[in-house]
Amino acid sequence: ALNYHENWQRVWRNPTPKKEYDVIIVGGGGHGLATAYYLAKEHGITNVAVVEKGYLGGGNTARNTTIVRSNYLWDEAAHLYEHALKLWEGLSQELNYNLMFSQRGVLNLGHTLQDMRDIERRVSANRLNGIDSEVLTTADVQKLVPLLDCSKRARYPVMGGSWQPRGGVARHDAVAWGFARAADALGVDLIQQTEVIGIRKEKGAVIGVETTRGFIASKTVGCVVAGNSGVLAKMAGLRLPVESHPLQALVSEPIKPVLDTVVMSNHVHGYISQSDKGDLVIGAGIDGYNGYGQRGSYPTIEHTLAAIVEMFPTFSRVRMNRQWGGIVDTCPDACPIISATPVKGLFFNCGWGTGGFKATPGSGHVFAATLAQGYAHPLAKPFSIDRFYSGALIDEHGAAGVAH
Ligand code: FAD
Repeated sequence: ALNYHENWQRVWRNPTPKKEYDVIIVGGGGHGLATAYYLAKEHGITNVAVVEKGYLGGGNTARNTTIVRSNYLWDEAAHLYEHALKLWEGLSQELNYNLMFSQRGVLNLGHTLQDMRDIERRVSANRLNGIDSEVLTTADVQKLVPLLDCSKRARYPVMGGSWQPRGGVARHDAVAWGFARAADALGVDLIQQTEVIGIRKEKGAVIGVETTRGFIASKTVGCVVAGNSGVLAKMAGLRLPVESHPLQALVSEPIKPVLDTVVMSNHVHGYISQSDKGDLVIGAGIDGYNGYGQRGSYPTIEHTLAAIVEMFPTFSRVRMNRQWGGIVDTCPDACPIISATPVKGLFFNCGWGTGGFKATPGSGHVFAATLAQGYAHPLAKPFSIDRFYSGALIDEHGAAGVAH
């Protein structure tokens, strides 16, 4: 059928790499594309290449479950994710691209007294940071999500929850495509099917990248390659405190609208929303082993679906349609690294683990400023790699078991 649309124009150019750029971004996921866009738009740096080994947005950007929220516990994380959420709120208009950003609210359930104490603490911290956040009772939760089993018969009865009304979901591909089109229009070269296979240094400073299409020079290189960050760091002779793990998701057959918010549970460990197509979009935690294969193991699927059926017994007869995996780069404190490195001109933006989609515009925005100025944007400063030497960790791991 596409043959009949032969006059469609390219949405972005397919340029031949130049010999040299002011800035090279390695990785054409949402974060890399957002970085390139803000470099051009906010800092006037347009001689920029995004070098992507596959196709734009084909990594974790295409594989995630699209939950967007900013109700993180610690000030540093809350400020960063809230910055991103504020950008989301005007992004479809700014990019002139429908990102299908839907602020349908995010509900985090509590099933034990300790869950509820943690929820009360987090909600208080959020409100002190000006983030919309509420504590809900069991009755409030039941009213919000009638299908959820809130009965006392449940194995882990729902005792309440936290609720962020401005949270929600967005269309993942559209985010990559919207940023790509806007960056291209500002003059950024988007170079696909080109893998970075080496990082060239001279006298302790980066001078460019070796790619499958030859050497491309630049004195500023930003690596935004998610699960492959450790591989890129090794090319520069560095070791990052990140582990690469598979993270899976699955979707059901499409069904009529039954769930109009996002429901997450740390305790039974699963989360669910319903896409505009009607699919139930389901995820949980990482597979425990390290690896680079973009798939996962069966026990994790079984565990995830057990959690969903625990919360929504009626979904036990819904058939699952597709399952897939991505490779997420997890840091020991479940917070990202947005940082310069000991190699002059070489920067990393990684470690977003299981929860970086929601940060896409904010991450690109602060990383672009960091690359343009050569020193950290104030919101990025606490996320320097130095925290693993100083001990100033931002421990969101303990704070939010399901970190999506
Ligand atoms: P990616 O989109 O992975 O982009 C990195 C790019 O780098 C890739 O396109 C890759 O091909 C490229 N690359 C790698 N190596 C090279 C190389 N050597 N040369 C050139 N290019 C290279 N986050 C949320 O906020 N909410 C969620 O609900 C959520 N759910 C998730 C569910 C799953 C199953 C998964 C896998 C992730 C989930 N995440 C979620 C996390 C989120 O997807 C990521 O944190 C985020 O998308 C990372 O974006 P990115 O642009 O950094 O990475």
